Amino acid sequence: MKQILVTGGAGFVGSHLCERLLEDGNDVICLDNFYSGAKENVWHLIGRPGFELVRHDVTDPYRIEVDEIYNLACPASPVYYQYDPIQTTKTSVFGTFHMLGIAKRTHAKILQASTSEVYGDPEIHPQPETYRGNVNPIGLRSCYDEGKRCAESLCFDYHRIHGVKAKVVRIFNTYGPRMAVNDGRVVSNFIVQALRGEDITIYGDGSQTRSFQFVSDLIEGLVRMMATEDTFTGPVNLGNPGEFTMLELAEKVVRMTGSRSKLVFRPLPADDPKMRRPDITLAKTHLAWEPKVPLDEGLKKTIDYFKEKLRV
Ligand code: NAD
Ligand code: UDP
Repeated sequence: MKQILVTGGAGFVGSHLCERLLEDGNDVICLDNFYSGAKENVWHLIGRPGFELVRHDVTDPYRIEVDEIYNLACPASPVYYQYDPIQTTKTSVFGTFHMLGIAKRTHAKILQASTSEVYGDPEIHPQPETYRGNVNPIGLRSCYDEGKRCAESLCFDYHRIHGVKAKVVRIFNTYGPRMAVNDGRVVSNFIVQALRGEDITIYGDGSQTRSFQFVSDLIEGLVRMMATEDTFTGPVNLGNPGEFTMLELAEKVVRMTGSRSKLVFRPLPADDPKMRRPDITLAKTHLAWEPKVPLDEGLKKTIDYFKEKLRV
């Protein structure tokens, strides 16, 4: 049985990860400051043998002895990460620095949840891990993008200098049950709007693309990455290469919910990437991983979740 620390464990992805790690027979310490996550996401795990919930902010130092660390703490929705951008940068930079310190002292493996945002508004399509990105270092998204880039840099320096068993995954847009109703990301926004019969807010003309991965696929990828040999740092892209415009997504959601909502167009936020699609060759070859859940199937599960949540 391993002792595993999951920072950001009460968030959308973190809660699914805690569940999976417990099912695999591990002890899980779920650490969160509940900024964009909620106790409700892990309520069902409280009282289960092996599960501990700790309220802590990763920008403050923390002391613990563990075998593995999944460092997920960081708001992922643009609405949340831009609300307090300085705290977002501190979370990625100080948070990762503190977690790497624990990994160094206890010889734990550490997996850093990085993001496709390190590619910024990409000029290469699809994006392989070798692409260095096109990030605006001073824009509204930079607290998140540059924070995550700095976190990657710290992981590689701790690996090179201190031999820390660091692993970096670059996660592409992920969706599924337990996204917050007011999360602000596109999949939950469109579903909630469609179920409530409100206007569906498309930013820009809706021609920008994203590749959407269902959360269960991501969890499998994270666990496989952690299980790789100690010297393998990545970075590895984890995402579903299926690529859709926001207009296509909106039409799909309206059709699948049977909603009468109208599509309305709103200004495109600054630096919004025009396209995004992962090259997952490395994940396929090194992790023997590829996503299994097509968008329609994942959307159905997510719609069912929100129907229940909104009682509609
Ligand atoms: P989320 O916002 O639901 O979860 C993040 C969790 O971190 C929340 O529970 C939040 O309360 C917690 N947190 C934030 N700041 C903290 C701090 N200072 N100290 C302790 N806890 C803190 O987002 P998510 O979608 O579950 O994302 C999880 C991780 O995966 C994040 O690091 C995110 O950057 C990364 N990621 C997610 C996606 C995606 O599409 N879901 C894509 C790329 C990267
Ligand atoms: N988006 C949209 N309507 C919304 C929320 C988002 O059209 O209500 C767009 C947004 O401008 C972006 C895409 O959907 O082009 C994905 O946005 P999200 O916030 O989910 O993630 P990210 O931009 O970080 O990939």
